[in-house]
Amino acid sequence: MRHIEMFWRCSSCSHRNLGRHQVCQQCKNAKDGSEEYEMPEDPSSAVSVTDEALLRMATAGPNWRCAYCESDQRAFDGSCKNCGAALPGPSEEPSPPPPELPPETKKRKRLPWYVWALIIGVFVCCPCFVCASQQEKPQALHVKGVTWEHTVSVERYRLTDKEGFAEDRPDGALQVKTLGARHHHDEKILTGYETVYYTEKRQDGYTTESYKDKEACGEDCSRTPKKCKETCTSNKNGFATCKETCTGGEERCTTRYCTVKKTRKVPRYVDERRSRKEPRYRSEPREAPWFAWKEWTWSHDRDVKARGNTLTTHWPSEAELKPAQALLNGEKERDTRKGTYSVVFQGAEAKPDVTYTPKSLEEFQRFGIGSTHNVQEKDGEVSVVVEEKPSTSGK
Ligand SMILES: [Zn+2]
Ligand SMILES: [Zn+2]
Repeated sequence: MRHIEMFWRCSSCSHRNLGRHQVCQQCKNAKDGSEEYEMPEDPSSAVSVTDEALLRMATAGPNWRCAYCESDQRAFDGSCKNCGAALPGPSEEPSPPPPELPPETKKRKRLPWYVWALIIGVFVCCPCFVCASQQEKPQALHVKGVTWEHTVSVERYRLTDKEGFAEDRPDGALQVKTLGARHHHDEKILTGYETVYYTEKRQDGYTTESYKDKEACGEDCSRTPKKCKETCTSNKNGFATCKETCTGGEERCTTRYCTVKKTRKVPRYVDERRSRKEPRYRSEPREAPWFAWKEWTWSHDRDVKARGNTLTTHWPSEAELKPAQALLNGEKERDTRKGTYSVVFQGAEAKPDVTYTPKSLEEFQRFGIGSTHNVQEKDGEVSVVVEEKPSTSGK
């Protein structure tokens, strides 16, 4: 750190005065506030101040201004050297202006994100809601027609013809007959052994192998270039303080790697010729007796159906269910029953008819021709909303 002397130009006679003077050396006018101190053209080549008296001025702090004659006075002078007035007391100093308030933010208030989300949601989803509600809304439709079908599936327990090997035949098989021999399976028969030769790797000691490896072997260092700069700032008393700031000059090091030759032991293998005996087979067909027999089993015989297009349903009559020919001795029958029902509604306006499939006979009988029901179509599936009012169809 060092001090240099500044200059000021007299506003009356334009004389260039040294910073140490408070009075123009040419016209003797006292320096005032309008006459600013100027830095020398090249501050770095300006000579350093070493004189005791000048150093005292340089380090005294900023000048003060005489309140009566407006001349510049040194900090260590208690009274004005120009007019004799005293240094102004702290009470006369004007109070600093209040800190300026930050400028009013005039940014337009943005809509919060959830408002945007709501607006987008309404615009994107509204059409969906509309069409979904149209699709899901039940419609009052008239019953145009009904159909039903009752199916009785009859199975009969009877003697059945069967064929197979002895292991397929049940204990209760009747009228067993032999139908000669048939191919049952192929048997593997050992015909002998064959010697097969092959080579196998066998470890036979070690060999020494050399290889290259990288190892740390010191450091490579370099110093970054050092740059210094002197900056001078005015002390506001005719002098300036200059400081030198430097950057760089640090040492940077990186590890250096060297290639080194190393050796290691690796196992050594040799090919060894070996042999083994492998069995050889031939395939020979084997036969077994084939049988025919009779066996009592249940099997499907016939379906008997009854159909209609009114709400009055019935099952096939006893006469219809009777077998065409009388059952043989030991034969018997059993049946399973299944009903399917369908209701066709007249489509609303120009829309096609809607077909509904009731789950039970009881449900089917609620759909009198011309009666109105709330029909709902959703994803191609038709359902009927049950009305609150009690059914008036008397029995
Ligand atoms: Zn002058
Ligand atoms: Zn004065």
